[in-house]
Amino acid sequence: MAIYFNTIVFGPIRSRRLGSSLGVNLLPLKGKLCSFDCVYCECGWNADGRSDNKIPTVEQVREALKNKLEECHRDNIPVDSITFSGNGEPTIHPNFPEIIDYTIALRNKFFPKAAISVLSNATMLGRPGIKEALRKVDNPILKLDGVDEAYVRLIDRPQNPDYSISEVISQLEWFEGNFILQTMFLRGVVDGVEVDSMRSDLLEGWQKMVLALRPREVMLYTLDREPPLSTLKKVSVKEMEQAAEPLEKAGIKIRISG
Ligand code: SF4
Repeated sequence: MAIYFNTIVFGPIRSRRLGSSLGVNLLPLKGKLCSFDCVYCECGWNADGRSDNKIPTVEQVREALKNKLEECHRDNIPVDSITFSGNGEPTIHPNFPEIIDYTIALRNKFFPKAAISVLSNATMLGRPGIKEALRKVDNPILKLDGVDEAYVRLIDRPQNPDYSISEVISQLEWFEGNFILQTMFLRGVVDGVEVDSMRSDLLEGWQKMVLALRPREVMLYTLDREPPLSTLKKVSVKEMEQAAEPLEKAGIKIRISG
C-alpha cells in the first residue's frame, strides 16, 4: 500500500542513518511525482494518486519550514538533519536551488549543527543549478542502483526514454567523491523477468563503478516495507556485506540497512 507524506514538513522522525530527521516534501501531498517509478517505491506507482499533481510554492515551503524549525527550537526538540525526501524526486521542484539556499539560512539560524540531507535519484543533475545546490548541502545522497541499462530500466523505470547511465555517471564524477551513493539490492520477478542484484556480472559492474567514483560513503539497503510489486524479495545483510567487501578493503565507508 502506498504511503504518502501529507504535509510539506513532517517529523522529526527517528532515522537510523540521520538521527532526528525533519522531513521536507517538495512534491504533491496525495500522490507521487518522480522521474523514476521504481518497482520497490514505498510511495507506490506514479500513476496512483494522480488526482493531486500540485507542488508547493517556494513561499509555502519557506513558511512551513520556518514555522516547524521555530517550534522545535522553542520546545527543545532536537533536529539532527533537515531531510528532503517525500513523495518523489525533490530536485524536480523548479525552485529547488532557491529552496536549498533559504534552508541553509534557516538551519544556520535555528539549528546550526544540523545537517541538510537530500535523497535524490540523480536524474536531474544535468539541469541548471541542481548539482551546485546539492554540493552546498551536507549530505547529497544520490541513488544509482546499477550500471546495466536493462536492469536499471526494469527496476527503476526511468520516465525519460533518453535516460542514460553513462550520463548519470559523468554527472556524479563532477562531485569528485563528495557525495553519498545509495543503492537498492533486491531480487524477484519484474515483468516476467528474473532480477537479482547479486548476479555476478551486475555486482561486478556496480563495484567497478563505485571504485571509480569513490563516493565518501555508500549506503546499501534492501526492501523494508511492502513494495508495490509483490514478486520482489529482500536480499540478506550478509549478501550485502559480501558485495561491499572489496569496496571496504579499498577504504570506502559502507553503511548497510537490512
Ligand atoms: S526514486 Fe525514490 S521516490 Fe522515485 S520512484 Fe524510486 S523510490 Fe520512489
